[in-house]
Amino acid sequence: MEREKRKRRWQLEYKLASVCIAILFLVTLAATSLIRGNEVKSMEVNNNRERPVSLIEKEEIKGNIDDENSPKQEVKREIKTQDDSVESSSVSDTAIQTEKKQDETIKQSNNHIIYLTFDDGPNQYTDAILDLLGRYNAKATFFMLEPNMERYADSIRRMVNEGHSIGMHGVTHNAKIIYQSSEAVVNEMKRGQATLASISGLNSYLIRVPYGSVPHMKPAYFEAVNREGFKLWDWTIDSKDWKFLSRKYVSYILEQLESYSNPDEPKVVLMHDKASTVEHLESLLQKLTELGYEMKLLTEQLEPVTL
Ligand SMILES: [Zn+2]
Repeated sequence: MEREKRKRRWQLEYKLASVCIAILFLVTLAATSLIRGNEVKSMEVNNNRERPVSLIEKEEIKGNIDDENSPKQEVKREIKTQDDSVESSSVSDTAIQTEKKQDETIKQSNNHIIYLTFDDGPNQYTDAILDLLGRYNAKATFFMLEPNMERYADSIRRMVNEGHSIGMHGVTHNAKIIYQSSEAVVNEMKRGQATLASISGLNSYLIRVPYGSVPHMKPAYFEAVNREGFKLWDWTIDSKDWKFLSRKYVSYILEQLESYSNPDEPKVVLMHDKASTVEHLESLLQKLTELGYEMKLLTEQLEPVTL
């Protein structure tokens, strides 16, 4: 009897244990499938993230097309706009940066070259100009009046030795005389050219006409000087040192440099062999050096600028 009872109890216990195991198995199974389900869902989300934003947005907007006022859509549109703007701004930023870099390279090559020119010499101020130019490792171009050449022949020879450039500025510096005819212009320049050659051995074709080419140089005059092979230079920056007769010409040059809008246009500065110009020339050279300018000379190979 006792044995029978024990056997039944054992069977009962066995069944109970089996049920427990079965329940445990089912619970485990359910839990596993739940986790897997979540994993799949999150994978889908991730996949969506990897797809182009615009594609997702388009699909979602398509789905919500009738639901114009839905706040959900508003949020999504907002996100899309933000994403798009980020995307397009990053693309355009790169383009702008590349463009900027190219621009800067061009600007640096042109922007850091300046051509200083001095008219109406040589005279008693020319040597002081040469001293200062030498100190700042600057080169310049001197447009000279023929009558001054003989008198300051030593200054001319010094200029040549120190690597500066020389051009002719005529003989009379009188508008009524030099601009009488194309022959008059050519003759004054030729006379200067011959005197310069006799002093220095230099055969220059660089010229600047008195008061600049505007308004006196007629088309026929231009044709005449071109025919003779002269290279007529005006300027792009007028220092107005002839008018200010003070330090003001320096700041006037610097202001023009700051607002210089065309990087392709050479910076040709008009100055004169004058006492007040010499007096403040060092501050100009100092400033230009600080700004990283290279002061170079005009050559016959350069394309001249005219007003
Ligand atoms: Zn002049």
